[in-house]
Amino acid sequence: MKIHEMPIPNHLREAYLRNGIEELYPPQAECVTAGLFDRKNILAAIPTASGKTLIAEMAMQKEIAEGGKCLYIVPLKALASEKYEDFSGKSVKVGIATGDPDQRDEYLGRYDIIVATSEKTDSLIRNKAGWLKSISLLVVDEIHLIGDDSRGGTLEMVIAQLRFQNPNMQIIGLSATMGNPESLAKWLDAALITSEWRPVDLREGVYYNGAIHFHGTERLLETPKKDDDLNLLLDTVNEGGQCLVFVSSRRSAEAYAKRAAVTLKKTSDALDELAKRIAKADTTASGKNLALAVKSGAAFHHAGLPREARSAVEEGFRNGDILCISSTPTLAAGLNLPARRVIIRDYQRYERGTGMNPIPVLEYRQMAGRAGRPRLDPYGEAVLIAKEQRDVDRLFEEFIDAPAEDITSQCQKENELRSHLLALITSGFAQTADEVRGFMEKSFYASQKSVHRRLDKNIEKTLAYLEKSGMIEKEGDGIHGTLFGALTSRLYLDPESAMMIKDGLAAKNFTAFGMLHLLCMTPDMFRFYLKASDEKFVDKILKERSDELLLEDISEEFFAAIKTALVAEEWISEISEDSICERFGVGAGDIHAVVENLRWLMHAAGRICHEFASCCDSEMQDLELRVNHGVKEELLPLISLKGIGRVRARRLFDRGITNPEGLMAAEEHEVVSILGATIAQKVLEQAGRRSAKKSRPDREEEEREDVPTE
Ligand code: ADP
Repeated sequence: MKIHEMPIPNHLREAYLRNGIEELYPPQAECVTAGLFDRKNILAAIPTASGKTLIAEMAMQKEIAEGGKCLYIVPLKALASEKYEDFSGKSVKVGIATGDPDQRDEYLGRYDIIVATSEKTDSLIRNKAGWLKSISLLVVDEIHLIGDDSRGGTLEMVIAQLRFQNPNMQIIGLSATMGNPESLAKWLDAALITSEWRPVDLREGVYYNGAIHFHGTERLLETPKKDDDLNLLLDTVNEGGQCLVFVSSRRSAEAYAKRAAVTLKKTSDALDELAKRIAKADTTASGKNLALAVKSGAAFHHAGLPREARSAVEEGFRNGDILCISSTPTLAAGLNLPARRVIIRDYQRYERGTGMNPIPVLEYRQMAGRAGRPRLDPYGEAVLIAKEQRDVDRLFEEFIDAPAEDITSQCQKENELRSHLLALITSGFAQTADEVRGFMEKSFYASQKSVHRRLDKNIEKTLAYLEKSGMIEKEGDGIHGTLFGALTSRLYLDPESAMMIKDGLAAKNFTAFGMLHLLCMTPDMFRFYLKASDEKFVDKILKERSDELLLEDISEEFFAAIKTALVAEEWISEISEDSICERFGVGAGDIHAVVENLRWLMHAAGRICHEFASCCDSEMQDLELRVNHGVKEELLPLISLKGIGRVRARRLFDRGITNPEGLMAAEEHEVVSILGATIAQKVLEQAGRRSAKKSRPDREEEEREDVPTE
C-alpha cells in the first residue's frame, strides 16, 4: 500500500514522502484494511519500531481534517514530550497536558491533538474538563500496560469512562506483543492486528563461552580478551555498532559503564563536551562517575539521574558519540534508543518476599525489540548471557521461544477499586449502586472471566468503606459524593491517603517533620528502601523525635517513610543535593522525585486542612512553600517575590536582606551586586509594590530558578 493512496491531508503525505516514507509497512497496511480510516476500533499488537506512531498519526490527521479532536494517551511524561514533538509542526494544533492534578486545563480544548499521561487524563475526567466530551478519536499508546501492577487500573478506568462519555469515539490501541491480545480486542470492540514483522531483522541468541548461539547457527567472537559482557560490547563496536546493556540494578548499571569506559577508551571533543554538561547537571558522586565514563564513550542510565543528565546521555547515544549505555530494565519501555546489539545481561530480578525471579517475557521482548536501528543497521541482535552450558537451552525456552504473558485487569485490587469507584460517583458516572455495578460490568476486569460474584462483593465492600470514611452518602437508592469525597477525588488522592491526612491533622500538634512523615506514609507517596546502614539514623529518630511523629507503627513502611521524610527535611533545610545523596545513598533524580511527589501531596493536604482542620492552615501554607522551594522558614518572605528561588534568597539573606522591606531599604547597587541588574530591577519593583501594600507574602507563581522538576 502506497502513502499516496492514503486518505490523509496533502501536507502530511508530502511530509512523509520527504522523509522517504513511500509505502506502508505490512502491519500498517493491515490496520488500513481493517478499517483504520473508516473509524473502526483497532488494536495493533506489533513489535517495537514497526511504525505504530505512524498508524495513529494518519488516523488522527484524517479525523482532524473532518472536524474531529484526538486524545493521545501515553504512560510517561517523558513520552508525552516525545510524542508532542513528533506530532507538532504538521498543520495541526498540538497540546500537552501537564500541570497540577486538580485543574481542568480548559485551554487544552483549543487543540486538535492533546497528548496526556493516563494519570493526567484521569484527573481531567475527575475535574470534569468540558473538552473531553468532544474527543472523537482516542489513541492509547502501550495499551498492554492495562496489566501493569501499579498503573494499569487507572488506564483501564480512563478508557472505560471516555467510552461511556463518547460512545461514538474511535479507539486505536497500540501495544507490544502480549499473550492474550484477543481478550483486550474483544473488550475494546476492536479489530486485532498482530504481527511479528519488523523493519530490521532481529536475531535473538544466547552467548556462552566465546560464541553467540542462535537458532541453527552460531557466531564465534574473536578470541575473548575480557569478561563476557565486555567481549560482546567490543565485538559490536569493532563492527561499527552500539550496544544497550540491561542489568538488574542501578549499582550494576554504574559499575558496567565504568568497566566499559576503561575498555573502550574512546576520546573526542563531542564526548568531552557531553561530560562537561553532565558534570554540571549532576554534581553528586553518581554524576561524576557518569561524566567520567562518558568521556571515554560509555554511559549508564537510570531513574536516579536528573533529567538533564539523562537527556545528555540519550543525545550522545543518538549522535553516535556514546557507544554503549547500561540501563536498568525499568527503562526498557520508555527509552526510545535503538542499538545494533542489545545485551540482556541480568534476566532475573530481586523481589521482596520471593527473592530472585526471572523477568517477564513481555519485558524481555521490549528490551530485545530495541535491537536494530531502522535504515541504519543491517540487522539487530539481542543477546542473553548464559553462565553455564546448560543455561543456553533454558534461556531459549524461558525467553526467546516463550510466548509473552497474558495481561490481566488490575481493577480487582482493593486500592484501585476504592479510588476509581469514588471517582465514578463524584464525577457523575454512577448515581446508584446499580449504576456502579453496571459500569464495572463493562470493564476489562469483568470481561476477562466470570467474576460477577466476586466483583459484586468487592464493589459492596468498597462502597461500605467509602461510606464509613465519610466520602459518599447513601439516600434511598441514590449515592452521592460528600464534600470530602469530591475533594479527595479532584485532588487525585487515594481515599486512604485523604483519610490519613485528615486524621493526622486532627491528631496532634503540627510539626513540619511529623507532617512530612505522615505524607510519606500515604499510599500515594513513593518511599526509599531501607538499607541496613540506614537503621542507625532511623533508630536515632525513634529515640529522639518520636513525639513529632503523627503516627505510631512498627511496619517496614513506617521506617522507610522516616528515611524519605528525612531526605525531604534536609531539602527544606537547604542542605546541598550532594550531601543528601551521600548521606542517604540516593541519586539526585531520587531527591527530585521525592520533592515532586511531596509537592502534590502537600498541596492536597493543604486543601484538606483548609476545609476540615483550619487550625494549622498557615503552618501548612508555609510548609508547602518550603517544599516547593527547598528553603528554611526564614527565607519565606523573600521567596514570595517572583524571580527569587532558594539560591538567590539565601544570598540576599546572608547579606542581611531578609524580606521585601529590607530590599527596599537596601542600597540599589548592593541589590544589583547580589542579583544582577535585570533581576534586581524586577524584584525591587515588586518589593516596592508589596511594601506599599504591606501585604502578607502571597503565593504568586514563581519564576523557576533552581527548583528541581521532573
Ligand atoms: P513504534 O512506535 O512501533 O516503535 P515508530 O512509529 O516510532 O515505531 O516507527 C519507527 C520508525 O520507523 C520511525 O522513524 C518512523 O518514521 C519509521 N517508519 C514508520 N513507518 C514507516 C514506513 N512505512 N516506511 C518507512 N519508515 C517508516
